[in-house]
Amino acid sequence: VRYTLSRSFADLLRRKPGRELAAVDGAHLAIRKGEAVGLVGESGSGKSSLGRALLRLTPATGEVRFDGTDVLRQDRRSLLAYRKRAQMVFQDPLASLNPRFKVGEALAEVLRVHRLTRREEIPGRVAALLDTVGLDTEFADRRPRGLSGGQCQRVGIARALAVEPEFIIADEPVSALDLSIQAQILNLFLRLQREMQLTMLFISHDLGVVHHLCQRVAVMYLGRIVEEGPADEIFYHPKHPYTQSLVEAMPRVEFPKGRRELPRLEGEPPSPADKPPGCAFHPRCPHVMDACRQDPPPSIRRVGAAATACHLYPETEKA
Ligand code: SF4
Ligand code: MG
Repeated sequence: VRYTLSRSFADLLRRKPGRELAAVDGAHLAIRKGEAVGLVGESGSGKSSLGRALLRLTPATGEVRFDGTDVLRQDRRSLLAYRKRAQMVFQDPLASLNPRFKVGEALAEVLRVHRLTRREEIPGRVAALLDTVGLDTEFADRRPRGLSGGQCQRVGIARALAVEPEFIIADEPVSALDLSIQAQILNLFLRLQREMQLTMLFISHDLGVVHHLCQRVAVMYLGRIVEEGPADEIFYHPKHPYTQSLVEAMPRVEFPKGRRELPRLEGEPPSPADKPPGCAFHPRCPHVMDACRQDPPPSIRRVGAAATACHLYPETEKA
């Protein structure tokens, strides 16, 4: 199957070795328009850094292409225009809301700043946004500290949607919420993505969650994407030993089941400052071979319907 890449992000974040510590190094990710892509990995794998680099919220070198334009090289004005098309939903919903503003004021402010709605139409638009995320109109008069975690995250999502973005990056948007609320918010994302045909990067440590929400999944380990492919392929036929260990450690019952910890692999992930030589996963890998201790695995290659970077798959074509 050949896709037409009408809009894609290609991200190649590289730093000169030895100088600065890079959370992400040599990761490549393409997201097609209208598609939800999940980015999974343990904490510290560089998922958030990659997400933030896509919006230029964190310094990065390399290339981030949106609709053909390199976001990292945009001037201030086109960067502002880009941020109207691409929005982020954060992990901690309360911290991302200004406590002084009522919910309705916060949403109205976004509409005013981006000149999206005529003044007299703002209250109606605010009510519609609240409705979209499943909140009553009366929430317009509430302040963030009076809201539950789930309600706060709904407001965070409404604020992201206010600019009618094409692309949303959601960074662990349910990790801070109670178990009982997580599934509700995930189902809200699922509905919004389908109804609005949003392009989405959904960052999570939970493979079950991204399998449920996303059409494609990328797996990150120590700043690199080690496997990438259709969500079902990653979930049912994982190729990379790290992905396999994530899948094996999952409870058998699928979504919704609330929060799970990632598997207890042998040992902790090493610090990005102290990356093991060869394959960075080799100290924890059950399939480790001599070559893995010295030589980095080949760059990510197609294996079946997915692509992976691992010495176990040497003879496959380049992805
Ligand atoms: Fe394991 Fe070697 Fe593959 Fe790394 S390259 S995941 S150590 S088999
Ligand atoms: Mg993170």
